[in-house]
Amino acid sequence: MKKKEINASHTPLYREAGFNLQNSKRAQAAFSAEAANNHEPDDYIYSRYRNPTVVATEKQIMELEGCNWALLVETGMAAIDVAVSVFQQGAATRPWLFFHEIYGGTNSFIDTVLIKRRNLDVHRFYAKEGLYDFVELERMLKEIQPEFLYFEAVSNPMLIVADVKRIMALAKQYKAKIIVDNTFGTPYLWKPLMDGADLVIHSVTKYLSGHGNITAGVICGNDKELLKEAIEYRKWAGHFLSPDDAYRLGTQLKSFELRFDQHCKNALELAQFMEQHPKIETVLYPGLESHPTRKEAVALFADKGFGGMITFDIKGVSDEDKREKCDRFIAALEETIPLVPTLGEVDTILLPVEPVWGAKYPLPGVIRLSVGIENIEKLKGLIGGALENI
Ligand SMILES: *Cc1c(COP(=O)(O)O)cnc(C)c1O
Repeated sequence: MKKKEINASHTPLYREAGFNLQNSKRAQAAFSAEAANNHEPDDYIYSRYRNPTVVATEKQIMELEGCNWALLVETGMAAIDVAVSVFQQGAATRPWLFFHEIYGGTNSFIDTVLIKRRNLDVHRFYAKEGLYDFVELERMLKEIQPEFLYFEAVSNPMLIVADVKRIMALAKQYKAKIIVDNTFGTPYLWKPLMDGADLVIHSVTKYLSGHGNITAGVICGNDKELLKEAIEYRKWAGHFLSPDDAYRLGTQLKSFELRFDQHCKNALELAQFMEQHPKIETVLYPGLESHPTRKEAVALFADKGFGGMITFDIKGVSDEDKREKCDRFIAALEETIPLVPTLGEVDTILLPVEPVWGAKYPLPGVIRLSVGIENIEKLKGLIGGALENI
């Protein structure tokens, strides 16, 4: 039966696994065109290769990042897998260099997949007392001659803001490609591809989707060859965002800039409020004068904001006392600011750092707060109230 064309105003939700290619001639043309791995094919074939609903949402992300292409996948981890795997070329694979101050899951991926299973020559650049030593970074680039350098502009959970221009200039000097995980910075604060990065990845699960109801990731770039490699790897490794999730993400992306602006405003005001509070010991927020990398944050983000994450701890007479007070603070907020192990949602949520990452950070009892977009007076009331009661 011939289907009527619908005058839709949005790209519809195309749920088909396979598309109707009608006849052998058209099928042959579609499959031979597929060898070019174009971002938007003339004829769609199979949703694991490309899907029109997913491509429509990818175009929204290209607009936000200001880049030539974007590929959606099912998680942020899948995006990292695609981004690094395009540089794996069998026995010809060169060493890779990763900053150590990155998402814990990425460090686990490096250990359990790249090193343990793929036996790759991976190196780590460690921060010293929370700051980056550029002499050491240059020494490593020179000695290792890595294929790429991988870093995050804002570290988690200590919120170190990197001098990204200097890092990227060094990488280019030693001919290393640059991969940036920009989940914390988001394209609202920084667009690394416009400053010469080769690939950017996001955990779309966080701010880009913004409501804690989708897991997704994206790889963004400008270079055509990297696009072809990334499409090829995504297709054959089977990384894929479902059209349903892409459709919902498309709707949620429309409010991304509005939301992130509010995350930044709320976080700055809350950080200032908490820093003044007599029961608080330390507040780490890149927008505060007291933050060790405020200079880098101002240079990179200009006057746009400083992100939506705050890391802090509570005063106590001993480390044990501090830990106990932080635990009581968390319990007091159970119903209003819950302990949820993610970030970047419109609702404020928190996470105790030590139970998740171990006691490797200098602040006992430290808590990571993902500030939402709620009314700021309400947030101050909730946090202030919980602090009074411990
Ligand atoms: C959450 C996160 C990831 C992993 O993303 P998933 O969507 O959970 O797979 C990667 N990088 C950063 C910085 C993250 O916060």
